[in-house]
Amino acid sequence: MSGALPDGGEPVVEFDSVCKEYPGGVAALREVSLRIGRGELVGVVGPSGSGKSTLLHLMGSLDRPSAGRVLIDGHDVARLSDREVSALRAGRIGFVFQQFHLAVGVPVLDAVADGLLYGGLPLRRRRDRAAAALERVGLGHRVHHLPHQLSGGERQRVAVARAVVGEPALLLADEPTGNLDSASGAAVLGLLRELHRAGTTVVVITHDREIAAGMPREVGIRDGRVVTDARRAVRDGGGQ
Ligand code: ADP
Repeated sequence: MSGALPDGGEPVVEFDSVCKEYPGGVAALREVSLRIGRGELVGVVGPSGSGKSTLLHLMGSLDRPSAGRVLIDGHDVARLSDREVSALRAGRIGFVFQQFHLAVGVPVLDAVADGLLYGGLPLRRRRDRAAAALERVGLGHRVHHLPHQLSGGERQRVAVARAVVGEPALLLADEPTGNLDSASGAAVLGLLRELHRAGTTVVVITHDREIAAGMPREVGIRDGRVVTDARRAVRDGGGQ
């Protein structure tokens, strides 16, 4: 199932026969082998309970496999200490979730600047980079707004800005349009495509087949197994 990489380069994500069992004997992932190359845009699609979130958690080093090997940006997660895993996550992985997770009462600029807390940059530099990231997601005019003053779509764009402000090697999005109306959802997907075109590796988890069908690579998952893995040319030039 591990498809050849389009550029033959070092994968950003490499799963080797990965299994994940939860307490109680639930096998959420079974022998998953998957490689995601630098700069790919991948949709992971499957019905509820198929193992998508588990896959994303392992890709994001939020959890460890029960068996098999997970390499993120060349690092074998099982061989790293908790501190090293935290550093890997903070430095190389950005997350966008269905719920935007923006703190109430924190202005947008600081919410995004907080995405850089781990790097030890002074506040002023963090804010400068946050302003640039907000500009990138089309919210340069909203930097002093509070989350409740924004629409759902705008809040999700703030969450995307926060996820990419540290220029991660890997952007993981878990049902990023799940709480949005279709127009805002389309805008957020457009933004992910733009980031992909600019070179970011993006993995989008979705139960929506239509969203997955618009991705240059679609990985289908069912009952904890990868059942399809297809690349295609896509309309907007985001293909391989
Ligand atoms: P999806 O994201 O596709 O809905 P999940 O990865 O959340 O799928 O779940 C896959 C399977 O693992 C399901 O059967 C789910 O009930 C189970 N599962 C997920 N998380 C846990 C957990 N923390 N403890 C026990 N079982 C879990």
